[in-house]
This record gives sequence, structure tokens and C-alpha cells, in this order.
Amino acid sequence: MPASALVIGAGVVGLTTAVSLAEAGRDVRVDAELLPGATTSAAAGASWDPFLAEPADLVERWSKETLRLLLEFATDDSTGVRLVEGTHESRVPRDVPTWAPWVNACPCAPRDLRPGYVEGWRYRAPVVDMPKYLGYLADRLAHAGGRLRQHRYVSLEEALSEAPVIVNCTGTGARALVGDSSVEAMRGQLVVVENPGITTFFCDDTPEAEELTYFYPQSDVVVLGGTSDRGNWDLRPDGAAAADILRRCAQIEPSLAEARVVGHRVGLRPVRPRVRLDTEKRDGALLLHNYGHGGAGLTLSWGCAREAVDLLRAAE
Ligand SMILES: Cc1cc2nc3c(=O)[nH]c(=O)nc-3n(C[C@H](O)[C@H](O)[C@H](O)COP(=O)(O)OP(=O)(O)OC[C@H]3O[C@@H](n4cnc5c(N)ncnc54)[C@H](O)[C@@H]3O)c2cc1C
Repeated sequence: MPASALVIGAGVVGLTTAVSLAEAGRDVRVDAELLPGATTSAAAGASWDPFLAEPADLVERWSKETLRLLLEFATDDSTGVRLVEGTHESRVPRDVPTWAPWVNACPCAPRDLRPGYVEGWRYRAPVVDMPKYLGYLADRLAHAGGRLRQHRYVSLEEALSEAPVIVNCTGTGARALVGDSSVEAMRGQLVVVENPGITTFFCDDTPEAEELTYFYPQSDVVVLGGTSDRGNWDLRPDGAAAADILRRCAQIEPSLAEARVVGHRVGLRPVRPRVRLDTEKRDGALLLHNYGHGGAGLTLSWGCAREAVDLLRAAE
């Protein structure tokens, strides 16, 4: 009988890991300062997109595994995952993105490119309504016998006596909880508008672009992005940044110019030189770390969670 496990963190990484452990037969409790709807994960755009995460070889393996599962979920409306067609386009000639073959992306014909763009790739990606998807994961956890409670750990020591297995999925919180100064916040802001009839997504993929510009339709709303500010931990929406996002997106898709704004979202991407997925023994407990997924927490979630289950089995 596998030992019971305490997962710290209820973002997409914590919940996916908790579901994987519970469905593998463990007794799982998730403790988190912020419940799923208030996490960075809930603020994400979000689509399957291996952005801002390292190392490349593992990101490929984890992204492909997650893609396989998100494609399955897209057949069920209740998950919040939908398959949407769209493009990544560049204002300058560039190499084919590494992930393009993984999603069978095809080069855009020049006449299909947005004004000002010279190259692009068209494909169908899982686009995820994150608040709904996190609800789906929480339900799936409960169904597998897992529990979720709100609690902030002031130190790792406080957690070590709680269960024989501790799983650290604290995102940017790992900086304080385990003293990992290589984890930094990369603040991201989005604007949510009523959908004026957009059915395809768009993402500017110009190398070295100074700004992020993208939009993802989610049935009745469109999520517009974005920003990327390293070292900024401010969770308040910035009015000037929001106006700029709207302006840039409306330049690409004029129907967005008059769309009614219905919300603002801010989150802190947990960037790290590489994702941390490893185990260590501490004060008699087995500790597994799964954090530092940068701009790709959703995209890597299932690949990392499945590997976390295997790592724990091997370490016990
Ligand atoms: C604007 C924006 C757009 C994005 N778009 C995408 C996208 O399209 N695709 C994609 O894959 N990714 C995207 N990302 C990145 C993605 O959101 C993150 O990689 C992901 O949310 C990280 O998930 P996480 O579970 O590690 O962290 P979080 O969601 O931050 O969750 C961390 C959890 O740990 C808890 N915690 C932390 N410290 C403690 C403590 N001491 N005690 C108890 N609990 C603690 C928190 O309360 C929280 O519950 C985007 C991010 C932003 C900001």
C-alpha cells in the first residue's frame, strides 16, 4: 500500500500531481494558501504552448504527454478544454518553431498571414478555460478520494511531520518555502473581453519581440495578452498595460477594438533556469519537488505529474 501524501499547492501543477497520485492509489491531501480559483494557474490564457520553460529535451517529453491527454479531454465539454484552430505568426523570417511538428502545424500561405507578418504556422491547439479546468481537476481529485484544504505553510519543517510523502508544487512560493532563489516571478497580465465572434486564436511569435501579443477565444469571451515582467510580484492589474494589450490585439484583429472589457487577470509565472522535478529525503519524510514551470505550467502538467508518481515509487 503506497504511503499517504501531502501535496502543497493547488494550481494546475499541484492538482494534476494530486490527481495522478490519488488515482495511483494513494491517500492524498492538498494544502494550499490559495485555492485553485485564486492561483496563477487560474489567471493563465491558456493554451498548450511550451513557452518559457527549460530544459528543452524534458519540456518536449512532458509537453507531448500533456498534449496527448488534453486532446482526450477536448472531447468532453465539462473539462473546459476545447480544440481551437489558430496561428503563430512572425514579423521576420524565422526557423520553424521546435514544437510545430508535435502538433502537425502547417506553414501559412502568404495570403493567410495578418498584415505585417511574413511567416506563420497554422494548427489546432487545446485552448483551456482555466477556472473551469481547475474545477474539473478538483472534482476528479475528490472522486479519487483526495481532499483539499486552505492552509499556508510558513516553513517546510512545518509540513514534514504531516505525511511520509510531501510534494512541493508551490510555484513562485518555492522561493520562500524551500529557499530557492533561482525561482523568480515573471508577472503576466491579461484582459478578458466579450467575444465579438472570434473563433481562431492568434499568437505573435516574432523572435526577440519586445511585447507579447496573443488572443484565445473561449466561447463567450476572448482572453487577450499579454505582459512578461521579470521580478515584478505585483498582483494588481495595471491600467496602462491593459490599454496597451487592447491596442496591440485590436491592431491584429480590428473587431476587438470595440469589444466590452469584462475582466482583468494577473498571475506570476514561476520561472527557473530549469523545472525542478526531483526527490530528496528530509527528516524521515520523502520530499518531491515539482515547480518552476515558467510560462508552461498547463503544457507540462501531465507529463510532470506522471513522472512524479514514478519518481516517488522508485524512491520509496
Ligand atoms: C498571463 C499568463 C498566461 C499564461 N498562459 C499560459 C498558457 O497559455 N499555457 C501554459 O501552459 N501556461 C501559461 N501560463 C503559465 C502558467 O500559468 C504557470 O506555469 C502555472 O500556473 C504554474 O502552476 P503552479 O501550479 O506551479 O503554480 P500556481 O498556479 O501559482 O500555484 C501555486 C500554489 O502553491 C500554493 N502555495 C505557494 N506557497 C505556499 C505555501 N507556503 N503554503 C501553502 N501553499 C502555498 C499557492 O497558494 C498555490 O495554490 C501563463 C501564466 C500567466 C501569468
